[in-house]
Amino acid sequence: MTDLPIAGAKPAISEIDQTQLAAWLDARGEPAFRAGQVLAGAHRSSASSFDDLTDIPAPLRAALAADFRFTTIADNHVIGADGGLTAKAVHQLADGQRIESVLMRYPARGRTAERTTICISSQAGCAVNCPFCATGQAGFGRHLTPGEIVDQVLHWHRPPWQALGEDGSRHYNIVFMGMGEPLNNADRVFEAVRLLNDPARLGIGARHITVSTSGNVPGMDRMIDELPQVNLAISLHAATDALRDELVPINRKWPIREVVGAGRRFAARTGRRVSLEYVMIDGLNDTDEQGTGLAELARGWRSHVNLIPLNPTPGSRWSGTPAAGIARFAEIVRDGTTVTVRDTRGREIEAACGQLHAQLSGRSLNEARAAAATA
Ligand code: SAH
Ligand code: SF4
Repeated sequence: MTDLPIAGAKPAISEIDQTQLAAWLDARGEPAFRAGQVLAGAHRSSASSFDDLTDIPAPLRAALAADFRFTTIADNHVIGADGGLTAKAVHQLADGQRIESVLMRYPARGRTAERTTICISSQAGCAVNCPFCATGQAGFGRHLTPGEIVDQVLHWHRPPWQALGEDGSRHYNIVFMGMGEPLNNADRVFEAVRLLNDPARLGIGARHITVSTSGNVPGMDRMIDELPQVNLAISLHAATDALRDELVPINRKWPIREVVGAGRRFAARTGRRVSLEYVMIDGLNDTDEQGTGLAELARGWRSHVNLIPLNPTPGSRWSGTPAAGIARFAEIVRDGTTVTVRDTRGREIEAACGQLHAQLSGRSLNEARAAAATA
């Protein structure tokens, strides 16, 4: 897909179509097999530029570098937390927009193998405007291109992180839980998923990918038809329309009944469990009444509730529900479905949804880096 051209930017290898690449090679008298070779090389965990594709003749590497970008990401600012288990990147794009992605490593425990989760953005900013979310407060910038979405994953796949291991040999998951509402940018997000799936590229299985939505109903229905293997998570956050209208304003367009209806259709058609995400806000959506309502909404179909304590944004009027309150709420919801209580990873690097970006706003990445170095 070549829409949303960034002024003056060359096409990126992360989103170039294999046929287009083959045509470009053909025009240079190169054999057809080179297209697969270039794509495989560019997606290898050891590659950080065209120069690293050592199985490609040097003149061809130079020609590739002249006509294509190796990545759509112009610059990265990375910080770590949890003793290196969590790392967050603010990526600067060609037109200066900033987006975020987060790497979370879960070490092997008992019989559970090591796992890696990469959380990526689908838009710069977000128009849904949830009042507890830093991205929502920053407003909407623009949609991301498929390449800009894929390049966040490639950032962690490439040196020095190489987080997916060579050819994805580790257990990993990709979640669309960074900045943006993925189903408001469905065409490009779906294309990015296909690029991630492509065996000629990263070959990431759809079952390792989760799309999280604030409740775009037509988008969820498209997922059933177009990406039935991808996991669906719905950010519910309230069990009554009066409260959800405030917390997740897209609810005024698609109310709870329709959102849960789409979740039920997804579960029925795909045979797979749908996660209902619920951010716990002290004294607001953590009442017994909301808990009973949530149990009711989740009962009788393949649902699973994830309770996540709010990670308050700077200046937030709300705080997260204390652990005892979450445990009590979880007991009420368990009457309707299975429940997991999650912790907020990377709290000290403000890893929740757009928070670091909000902090850096108005400064260049170099200034931010300098400030971080002297802090
Ligand atoms: N726009 C999509 C996906 C990105 S947000 C969505 O809303 O689902 C990913 C998740 O982070 C959502 O469940 C969102 O509600 C949650 N989130 C946003 N701000 C948060 C905060 N301050 N603390 C905890 N979770 C937050
Ligand atoms: Fe957008 Fe999701 Fe943040 Fe709401 S929670 S503003 S939908 S990114």
